[in-house]
Amino acid sequence: MVFALADLLGRTWKCESCGLTHHVPTKWVSIAKGAFELLANFAIRVGKNQVAVVVADEITWEVAGREVANLLKEAKWKVCEIILPLPLHATDEAANRLLISWSHDASLAFAVGSGTINDLVKWVATQVKVPYIVIPTAASMNGYTSPISALLIQGLKRTQPCQPPEGVLTEPEIVASAPQKMTAAGYADLMSKTVADVDWQISNLLWGEHYCPMPRRLVAEADEWLQERLKSLANNETEAVAGLLEALLISGVGMTIAGSSTPSSGAEHLISHWLEMKALSEGKEPALHGFQVGIGTLIALTIYEMLLETKPKDWKPTEDEVVKPDERKAEFELRYGAIAEKVLSEFSAKWLSKGRAEEARQKLAANWEQLKGFVVSTWVQPEIHRQHLETIKAPTHPKEIGVSLDELREAILHAREIRRRWTVLDTAYLVGLLPEQVDHLLKRCKWL
Ligand SMILES: [Zn+2]
Ligand SMILES: [Zn+2]
Repeated sequence: MVFALADLLGRTWKCESCGLTHHVPTKWVSIAKGAFELLANFAIRVGKNQVAVVVADEITWEVAGREVANLLKEAKWKVCEIILPLPLHATDEAANRLLISWSHDASLAFAVGSGTINDLVKWVATQVKVPYIVIPTAASMNGYTSPISALLIQGLKRTQPCQPPEGVLTEPEIVASAPQKMTAAGYADLMSKTVADVDWQISNLLWGEHYCPMPRRLVAEADEWLQERLKSLANNETEAVAGLLEALLISGVGMTIAGSSTPSSGAEHLISHWLEMKALSEGKEPALHGFQVGIGTLIALTIYEMLLETKPKDWKPTEDEVVKPDERKAEFELRYGAIAEKVLSEFSAKWLSKGRAEEARQKLAANWEQLKGFVVSTWVQPEIHRQHLETIKAPTHPKEIGVSLDELREAILHAREIRRRWTVLDTAYLVGLLPEQVDHLLKRCKWL
């Protein structure tokens, strides 16, 4: 293992930084050549009987699923094999279908795959209260060890609290044999923390949301290691891809420490979720999660850059901001159709009356220097991040993921509505940067 991940696994400790007691339920991680030889040993420690469910999709079954099932059978396990057809999306429908085909005798489950398989198995395993082991087949996202499952529920992206896996096991060659675009997506997803951590600190400042610096520190070490290997990631070299996977697992553990996706999911993820919801509602195949996140990150970094150039005395929010969400029903129905009511309820949860918005602005102004410090602590210049994304062959222009500039503009303006979490999109509205400056923002993104 390259990073200090092993020191955290299975541990409970009182945090010196934030005072809370943190617990990491995931007990072991093995990313090594020959790791599969340990599979039956790990399984017997976790399962109460020798009945397991192995879930994969049509591709990951061939890559690793069949081997996992065979190894279990050789060790005298009864195996319920579930091979999900492609295309597959993490929706409530798919999760319920999986629940129906699940063997309810099983005392252990295996999620063989990447993002979607992981979200689905994690959700079902939590419902049926069965521990599960993740067999990652790509370093494509940071949700493997997180305590949440991101599902599209009746068309609206929601994160459900779920149990993290008991363990993670895979072979570097398997992960490095995934298409390079998945590696690129994983790196882009990991780098969301450059925005999400600042969003979180501002939420702590404005609303007293609990903040712990540990998730950021954990990923910082991995970050440096990866910066030196961007070209290797672009070539899908085994050592670099395995290191990226480990960094993604650390990032997931950071979410477990925080008890939510907050350290890794800010404005950039809202933009990603918005684009994904839009694509699926139009019957289109959405781009890889990390690719959407990468583009969202560039936008959010640029908003922070613009925010720091403003002066508190010039902050002037638009009059629309004081319109009560209830009075905007027609507008939401037009934009969101059948899910308008649910979106409105998310948006209402963070809507600020004129008085509360003024208080928030005053708080922000009074702590302006501190806020700049937050930004400097994790923020990177958008152009530098764009170059990194380009180096690892991740898209930086929305058209590369089938999104027009108009759609991106819509996402910037409205993504904040779909979730109650406070992000830089809300801060931008609070001080009047949005919606007025949206075109200026797009112009500033010179790569667009
Ligand atoms: Zn802490
Ligand atoms: Zn993500």
